[in-house]
Amino acid sequence: MAENGDDSRRKVTELADQLTSARNALDGTERDMAKVRLAHGQHVQAAEQARQPVKALDVKCPGCGALVSPQRTGAVVNGYRAGTFDCAACDVTFEARWSGGTDPVVTVREI
Ligand SMILES: [Zn+2]
Repeated sequence: MAENGDDSRRKVTELADQLTSARNALDGTERDMAKVRLAHGQHVQAAEQARQPVKALDVKCPGCGALVSPQRTGAVVNGYRAGTFDCAACDVTFEARWSGGTDPVVTVREI
């Protein structure tokens, strides 16, 4: 009987081990699914940003560093929009080109 009891305990231990590894596998799958969902969400966000027109943007004045809103903006050319700016603080007039997205690329030229 003692051997049978050991045998049963061993089986229970084996089953418990199998259950643990099954749980770990399930946890891993859930983590992977969360990663896939996150990556998909970021992809959709990036695609939406790419579709958005390049908006008017406040650009830092090359003279004093103040943020200036554009006086006029042109059409989007090759993903960039250009505009002319007049800084009220230091009276510098400048042109800038900028791309769309959350982190636009901006180039500034004094005129
Ligand atoms: Zn300025």
